[in-house]
Amino acid sequence: MSEAQETIFTKIINREIPAEVLYEDELALAFKDINPQAPVHFLVIPKKIIPTINDIAEEDREIVGHLYRVAAKVAQDLGVAADGYRAVMNCNEHGGQTVYHIHLHVLGGKPMGWPPYTEKLKV
Ligand code: AMP
Repeated sequence: MSEAQETIFTKIINREIPAEVLYEDELALAFKDINPQAPVHFLVIPKKIIPTINDIAEEDREIVGHLYRVAAKVAQDLGVAADGYRAVMNCNEHGGQTVYHIHLHVLGGKPMGWPPYTEKLKV
């Protein structure tokens, strides 16, 4: 999938459907994930439609870097920055991507180690 098609996230950007918006500027929007996988789980999306990581162009460098800056700011606002959090972006089917508008998942409020905490680190 590589065409820039509108998704449910376009509707959130345009306020056509509701979301719990945590931050917004001219480039990005952050809002709570509707199906949280951790005590803190929000998404950071660009306003520009970029379907997948594979579609990130050279000209998108500022936008994609900005997503991380927004993630850190919102994490700070929500009080999870110091303890830490996971920031992850899924790509296509094998990556578990379901919405084809890139988004950074930010998960925290509990240990989010990978592999799932320390058990799998044992050899
Ligand atoms: P992914 O599977 O990486 O594409 O992630 C898509 C994420 O979007 C999932 O974690 C969903 O719970 C979340 N999501 C889908 N629809 C909404 C919505 N209307 N508001 C907030 N989050 C949503």
